[in-house]
Formats: sequence, C-alpha cells, structure tokens
Amino acid sequence: MHRILLFTGCILMVLSSCGEPARPNIVMIVIDTLRAENLSCYGYGRNTTPSIDSLAAAGTLWTSCIAQSSWTLPSFTSMLTGTSERTHGAGVDPELTDMDEGSEWWSCENMLHPDAPYLPTILRDYGYRTYGHFNTAYVDSVHGFSRGFDRYTCQTGAPADADVIVQGFIGWADSTDSEEPFFALLHLFDPHAPYDPPSPYDTLFGPLAEEHRTFWDVSRDSTRRSISDPGNRQHYIDLYDGEIAFADAQLGRLFSFIRSEGLAGNTMIIVVADHGEEFLEHGGFGHGHAFYQQIVHVPLILSGASIPAGVRDTAWVGHFDIAPTILAMLDIEVPEVMEGNDLFSPSRVSRVIPSSGKLYMENDWICSVVRDGVKTLRMDDGTRFIDFSANLVTDPGEMELEEVENSGDLDNYMLTPRAWEPMQVRMDESLSPALRDLGYF
Ligand SMILES: [Zn+2]
Repeated sequence: MHRILLFTGCILMVLSSCGEPARPNIVMIVIDTLRAENLSCYGYGRNTTPSIDSLAAAGTLWTSCIAQSSWTLPSFTSMLTGTSERTHGAGVDPELTDMDEGSEWWSCENMLHPDAPYLPTILRDYGYRTYGHFNTAYVDSVHGFSRGFDRYTCQTGAPADADVIVQGFIGWADSTDSEEPFFALLHLFDPHAPYDPPSPYDTLFGPLAEEHRTFWDVSRDSTRRSISDPGNRQHYIDLYDGEIAFADAQLGRLFSFIRSEGLAGNTMIIVVADHGEEFLEHGGFGHGHAFYQQIVHVPLILSGASIPAGVRDTAWVGHFDIAPTILAMLDIEVPEVMEGNDLFSPSRVSRVIPSSGKLYMENDWICSVVRDGVKTLRMDDGTRFIDFSANLVTDPGEMELEEVENSGDLDNYMLTPRAWEPMQVRMDESLSPALRDLGYF
C-alpha cells in the first residue's frame, strides 16, 4: 500500500510539471560574412564545417535562404524584427551619405528603430533571460541593438574571435542556475575580412602566399575602390575557408558544452549568416555593394528542441522568417508588422523574398526580388535602372543574367512604405576607429 501511494505521488508530480510544457532555450548564432556555398553541408567541395554539418543532420536546413540586405546593420534588423529592409529602413540613410572630405563624421545610418518589434525584447517580456554578444559597432547600443538584453556586450573595438565569443557564453551559462529559459545571440565575426585565421587554420586549405595578404589588395580613386590584383583570388578564398573552419571548430565546443550540461533536449540552436561575400564572381569583392547570390544566399539551420531532424527544406525563405518562426513556435503572437512567415507553417504560398538597400559608394537605393526561384535585380548603369533576371534553379550563381522588361514584383516592393520615421546615427573616429581597420570607409 505504501509503495503504491508513493508511486502515485510521483506520477502526479510528473503530470504537474508537464502540464505546461517548458519553453526551450534558444541559441542564435549569427556568423558574419558566411556565404552558403562555402559550407560543406551546402555542397562545398571542402570540409569547412563538420560541426555545423552535424547540427544540420540533427535538424532542418533551408537550402535557399536569402538575406534581406547585403551588410550587417540592415540584415541584423531584418532577422530580429521580421521585416524587410524597405519596411524597417535601418542602414545607410539615402538622404545623408554624401560625406564631405574632412567632415568629422564617417558614416550616417538609420538605426534599428526603437518602435520596431525586437525579438530579444519580446522574449524577455515572456520570461526569457537574454544574453547577447555582438561583434561590430554597426550593431551596438548606439544603433539600438542592446534593447531587450539582460546581458549585452558589443565589441566596438577590434572584433572578438569565435573562441572568445563561445567562452563568454559558456562562462555566463555556467554562472547561472536559473530555471527560466534563455535566449542567447552570439555574433561570430571570423569570416569577415581581414582573412587571417589562427594556426593551423591559416594553412588548412592552401599554403601561405609569399606575400601574406589578409585584405583585398585595393586602391582607391575618388569614388570607389578597384581591385588591383585579382590574381590572388584563390589565396583569399583559402584563408576565408580557414576562418570558417576555425569558427566551426569553436561551435563544436559550444555544441559539446550544451550536450554535456544536459541542455540539448530543450535547446534550439539556430545558425545563420547576416550576408555572404563576393570573390570577383561578378567583378566585385566583399559585401555591401550588390545583391548577387554570393552576397545574399546565406545558410539557415535550426536544430534541437522540437525541430524535425534530417530535413533539407528547399523552400525560398528569408531572414525575415526567423523571428516569426521563433514566436510561432513559442505560441507568442506574431506582431502584425512582421512580414516573414513561420517556416514550419504547412501553407506555402508563392511570395517575394526581397533584398534591398542604399549602399555605400553607390548613388541609389537598389533591390532584387526572388519569387519561386526566379530572381530579378534592378541595377543602375549610371544613366538608368535596368532589370535583369536569372533562374536560380538552373543558374545558382546567376552568371547568365538576362535583361527583362520592368518587373512588377520589383515595382511593388519598392512601394512598400517605411513602418517608422528614420532615426539617424552619425559615427566618427572616436565612436569607432575599428570600422576603418575593417575596411569600411
Ligand atoms: Zn556583416
């Protein structure tokens, strides 16, 4: 009799703790400047990402995720607000980019608007502990990104390497024993130029060149940078891949920690990039200057908690789907202004996945849209806008662009109104000398 009572008591305890399913922890890893095609789980010929590959095998990988912009500030805003660049307007201010020689400020951006729904803020309102480690001044508190974080760090000086970011998170997770779930955003910066991975990753994919270069060898005229030594392309790619492999190895440590702490069953891990990188495929290099696939096709992987395992989803999706997906998963109402879809929603309608923005060193706000695998780009040839189209299913690098009549999808997208009045931030040398070292301006 005694034993039966005890047994019944245990069942009651389990039922009460299971009556309200525990919300999962969320670890969102944003790897800067990581184009999808250079990950082994995206079909790359080099084994750059064994840790991320394992994560993908245990979760769901989206083969066709498009960044809503081509550089850090607007892309982070899209990921964390569920909106397109046209709607949120964060990034280069179209009205204020003609910087005079000798002006005291280097750049002027529209910040993440304080009224925009922001994933960390929403999650904190729903009881999450929030931890964010960001890695460049474009996503600092001045630009609005610290909102909603209990613990927020931004490397406004030299970026921190992936081992530092991972160790910082492990230290934080180890030091708290709260029962509340956590949301952690870790911004890894390693693949961003300069391409300078630590040993042995610096020679993992090729010998060091006689003249070791970690930046594109560029010269400047009055308006734009030009490439003076394209012959070094493979050297840069070798080093870039080394940076990716280094970051991946650090993520391996992070994933081991999550398993060893017994957190794996109730922790969802997201791996995504804010944008990619061009290596002269279309005559340019770096990012922020165009919307070619090399720059906007990014990895997107969700794994752990209730995420289906071993799935490769070929739907065309975007950064702006991430926040609505997380909120839907947690049964939190998705704010109306969010334009993205729940990635696990069974209804799949034909829709436009846009990329857009006003780019530094260019004169006009430009954009591209993808619908059902067909991409249309609007480009400025100096005198007028021309629309080009490519079928990404048969031409994933869009090497064969075809001029087309004006695209209705582009026209419609360009009419999307801003949701908030822009708020500007000006940066000068005192605010961020590190940005110049990273090749900006
Ligand atoms: Zn970036």
